[in-house]
Amino acid sequence: MMTIERFRVLWDTLLPIGRDPDGAGWVRYGFSPADLACRDWFTGQAAARGLTVETDRNGNVFAWWGDPDAGDAVVTGSHFDSVPHGGAYDGPLGIVSGLLALDLLRQRGVEPRRPVAVAAFAEEEGSRFGVACLGTRLLTGALDPDTARALTDSDGVTLAEAVTAAGHDPEALGADPPRLARIGTFLELHIEQGRALADLDAPVGVASAIWPHGRWRLDVTGEGNHAGTTRMADRRDPMLTAAYTVLAANKEARLRGGHATVGRIEVTPNATNAVPAAVSAWVDARAPDDATLQGLVEAIRVRAAERAGRDGTSATMTAESLTPVVEFDTGLRDRLTALLGGAPALPTGAGHDAGVLSGHVPTAMLFVRNPTGVSHAPAEGASDADCAAGVTALADVLQELACR
Ligand SMILES: [Zn+2]
Repeated sequence: MMTIERFRVLWDTLLPIGRDPDGAGWVRYGFSPADLACRDWFTGQAAARGLTVETDRNGNVFAWWGDPDAGDAVVTGSHFDSVPHGGAYDGPLGIVSGLLALDLLRQRGVEPRRPVAVAAFAEEEGSRFGVACLGTRLLTGALDPDTARALTDSDGVTLAEAVTAAGHDPEALGADPPRLARIGTFLELHIEQGRALADLDAPVGVASAIWPHGRWRLDVTGEGNHAGTTRMADRRDPMLTAAYTVLAANKEARLRGGHATVGRIEVTPNATNAVPAAVSAWVDARAPDDATLQGLVEAIRVRAAERAGRDGTSATMTAESLTPVVEFDTGLRDRLTALLGGAPALPTGAGHDAGVLSGHVPTAMLFVRNPTGVSHAPAEGASDADCAAGVTALADVLQELACR
């Protein structure tokens, strides 16, 4: 069978898991039954290939080809969990491609001189417990285990309870230096979450950097009042300040070559016939470099404050999270682009486990072309031919780095 056919056959076995019955994408929250079914699928696939499966103390699963204790391993992988009603490719493509790349290497008759593993990391999207890259943040010690255990989902279930229900020990969560030390190089293959490769007419690209990104909460307070009896001139309406800031954020991002999005808003009291008393809006901002991001957020803050002065409201912006720029290992990146026949190097605005791990081990990412650029939505996709090209590229890189 050709790689393209192998891809489709394997992909079709995973596709039904967590699929919304009404066709509204995939719902695979971390440690949910759908996520656990994906992990069972992975364990089964690894066993069928004679790989050694181990789950670390943070719920990250590794399938090893070679002796994990030999050290300096080349690890590839991604995540199974999804955003609510997301696409099928974000995450699982990296795991499926890892398995198929190993198949290809065996078909080529090469043997690993460094141990190779395919990994499935826990709760990357943060859709259930609100912290992105939960598995790798715990593994690397970037997230305190006590804080993690107390995280709750929208049903009030704590991470500790979810981990217990999944058959793991929540007390074991936390930094795992010996396991991290086994990893000599990390490679994550991921569907592109934009249209850069489509515009460049290239099926596969190499990541150069992850844009710095963060979330800020804008709190605007005014005066709650009657929508019918309060004269327009007498109002102190926080909705106006928030609405203006949403537009200003969009404009400032365009002017600076960054991204700013307000995708979530809370209104108090949220009544049709009341001037609101308070509005909170969450600004997601990203930019090519730290200074541009800082400038963008500062500009949004200034515009909100100016408008608040005119509206008779008060506005404050509080940082909820900030991830600095991630520059992937340039030596590794250049080696990969050369190996892949001059594949384009491109930055991404999305966070990844590779971004977390890159602070600890030489890390690279491969992107597979996404013709529409749509991601975190059911329409996300890649052609089978491009997915097969991704598998071949990953196998070439693994062979170069880990095999003889
Ligand atoms: Zn992802």
